[in-house]
Amino acid sequence: GYLGAQTWRFLETYMQDRTAVMEPEAPPAPTLPAEGPTAARKTRVVVLGSGWGAVSFIKNLDPAAFGEGGGYELVLVSPRNYMLFTPLLPSAVGGVVSENSIVESIRTLMQGKGTYYEARASDIDPEKRVLTCKKEFCEVCAARKSQGGSLASHDHSEEEHTFQLSYDILLCSVGAVNATFGIKGVQDHCFFLKSMEDAQQLRRHISKALEHAALPDVTPENRRKLLSFVVVGGGPTGVEVAAELYDLVKEDVARKFPSIAEDVSITLIDGMDSLLNSYHTEIQSYAGETFRHNGIHLRLGTRVTEVREGEVLVEHKDGGRDSVPFGTCVWATGIAMHPLVALLKERLPADVQTSRRGLLVDQHLRVRGSQGTIYCLGDAAVTGDSPATALPPTAQVARQEGQYLAALLSKQRLALVEPAAAGEAATGAQAAGEGGELVPLPRATKPFGYMHLGSLAYLGDSKGAMDLPIKTPFLKTLRGYLGAQAWRTLETLLQVSPRMRWLVAHDWVRASVFGRNLSDI
Ligand code: FAD
Repeated sequence: GYLGAQTWRFLETYMQDRTAVMEPEAPPAPTLPAEGPTAARKTRVVVLGSGWGAVSFIKNLDPAAFGEGGGYELVLVSPRNYMLFTPLLPSAVGGVVSENSIVESIRTLMQGKGTYYEARASDIDPEKRVLTCKKEFCEVCAARKSQGGSLASHDHSEEEHTFQLSYDILLCSVGAVNATFGIKGVQDHCFFLKSMEDAQQLRRHISKALEHAALPDVTPENRRKLLSFVVVGGGPTGVEVAAELYDLVKEDVARKFPSIAEDVSITLIDGMDSLLNSYHTEIQSYAGETFRHNGIHLRLGTRVTEVREGEVLVEHKDGGRDSVPFGTCVWATGIAMHPLVALLKERLPADVQTSRRGLLVDQHLRVRGSQGTIYCLGDAAVTGDSPATALPPTAQVARQEGQYLAALLSKQRLALVEPAAAGEAATGAQAAGEGGELVPLPRATKPFGYMHLGSLAYLGDSKGAMDLPIKTPFLKTLRGYLGAQAWRTLETLLQVSPRMRWLVAHDWVRASVFGRNLSDI
């Protein structure tokens, strides 16, 4: 009975090599409301994505508006059924935080708020307000694949993998993709760091490289090549990857692989003359000094022209060219437009959608040219009229945009009204839909305003930097140990659920007491 269960739990925990295992309780199975005519009189809000923007939106919704008795029906579509806390991806690569700690189930976050479909929007018809969604899983394809069959040759029609979903209001928060600038060889030879799969792949590869380099028949030259890590991109992601690699080598490789630790090298390449260019100049120079002091080779003012198997070809500002050998190359040079965003952009008037980075939105985050039925937030959205005034593609911006839209829709109660009543209300601002017209936003609605709360970066060796949101003549930034502590504390507190906060805090302690996870599981 109960005592038996408690004994089992206690023993299974105690027998984990004395390391406590804390598994969260599984959320109760949600009931999925049927999609279709039952909710026809509610305004259907479809959210695309389960990242920073989308999750901030669903977390801040007013339950009175989006709950059972409210005027909205919420549907979330994303190929990923979890939210990923991207700022700690470099720490997951370094094995400091575990992958489970930095994700939260989207079904837990959606509970009581709406329906979730695990699918990828593949097309949008803004005229008819209909989405085409591609399922993430097909049991027939999976079975064929497991039997060694080729996916390309199966006789499934495209329709069997897709379904249609109508919307009244669409929130596009699909993020962006990695920018490679069309440089030859990047896709084939580099690792990226955008998703959990990327982090897992990279962590396993590092573990394999270390194990391989430690084998007795590896020549010194091969060993040095295997253990040379090249990071391309001196922004926060590239810097943090290099910093986590440095810590990994200094604290764990030195102890667990003493014979090869000396052969590890870390090189960071960037086209600009300093690291962390969007940060205060004090931080830029501090980051450079810290890296040089830690023996990280900086190749600044250097442009990558091609990536080949095991070697990056570079061109220096002065025209000099050479190559940097690598065993592992991480590509972290920023983001490019998501294919779905590019497709939607083509369906909207070209004279109002002129950005090459994403969808231009107005001051209420409505996509320009979409007649007010599509909102866009996060990395997919471009605010402002020129690149200089556009907000940066950060989690902080996406989060505040999600909060704003949740308040806007919850309070304004954009609703469907009968076609007869719609004539006066929809003064040409909204498109006609099958179930009625959308009441447009009142003119007095407050526009979106962004408040910068500072920028953080971890630099390795228990040093970090924080660009303070309010600068005084005496204090503009926090650097060094204090910067690292500010980074660690805020990254823990900013987790999207108490479960994640607890697990991340636990991981910091676990890693400092027991070391990192260097296994390739
Ligand atoms: P994402 O969070 O990228 O979410 C996009 C979502 O859309 C995902 O759930 C994806 O599965 C889904 N999706 C994709 N395609 C489709 C489709 N066709 N249909 C439906 N759904 C789809 N920012 C900071 O402010 N501070 C940091 O410290 C920081 N560190 C970072 C570290 C790393 C390694 C990375 C990669 C990014 C970091 N960022 C940081 C940037 C931050 O992660 C992004 O700005 C933020 O994730 C943008 O949020 P989003 O909602 O637009 O997109």
